[in-house]
Amino acid sequence: MRKIIGGLLLPICSLETAETSILGNSMISPQNYLIDMDGVLVRGRSIIPGADDFIHRLLERNAQFLVLTNNPRYTPADLAHRLGTMGLQVPAERIFSSAMSTARFLQSQKPAGTAFVLGESGLTSAIHGIGYVITDLNPDYVVLGEGSFDLEQLTKAIRLVAAGAHFLATNPDPSGPGEGGTVPACGAMAAFIEKASGVAPYFVGKPNPLMMRTALNHLDVHSEDTIMVGDTMATDIKGGVEAGMETILVLSGVTQTEDVVRFPYQPTRIVDSVADIIV
Ligand SMILES: [Mg+2]
Repeated sequence: MRKIIGGLLLPICSLETAETSILGNSMISPQNYLIDMDGVLVRGRSIIPGADDFIHRLLERNAQFLVLTNNPRYTPADLAHRLGTMGLQVPAERIFSSAMSTARFLQSQKPAGTAFVLGESGLTSAIHGIGYVITDLNPDYVVLGEGSFDLEQLTKAIRLVAAGAHFLATNPDPSGPGEGGTVPACGAMAAFIEKASGVAPYFVGKPNPLMMRTALNHLDVHSEDTIMVGDTMATDIKGGVEAGMETILVLSGVTQTEDVVRFPYQPTRIVDSVADIIV
């Protein structure tokens, strides 16, 4: 049996010796974690075995960590509640969404601006939270998230973008799982607006390393002391590598072992699931 310690693969029997030597030769393991949610901690409405214990160990060790999600629909409190109903206790302040990253980006680019927002409470509350006014009257930005939009709202977004509003979208994911099958996600709706307006959006969420950098800033930690844990090479590992972090790919989600070699960027480590990560 082998376990990951600070990114090193070691036999479990030499745990104490290994930890001592890691600290002794200055190869101090990163103390902080950015952890993708879907495919890493939960799958659909179910918790991935060992995820609850992993989070518990991080909390017990007072580790700095954030659970990252590209899903902009929910507020951190809503998401913490949803995870809680699955048996995963994650404090709301440990959750960081693409909606929050988008709001931070707006705040840094144009403080106290205006935006027309297509999205649900996770996005609108994050944008209100930075002092923005949400309006369809000559806004600085059109911000697209996820939700049930009608053609009238999409048409309004298209006209505002065509008229010169900057076009932001929370995440490039084209689709996601829904009740009864696939549902279009932000990336698909963004393509719709782009096709009609002729203006491409700027996507803030993963794999944009801006999402990771914003999360690092939120935690007030540095990339070199932080590990990105994710299940998807094209988003989590790509963004983690580009943000200068060590990365751990878990095989409990999207990417399977045989796919990894195809990518030009590689994870630092690969494990079956978060149950194999010792923190
Ligand atoms: Mg994932």
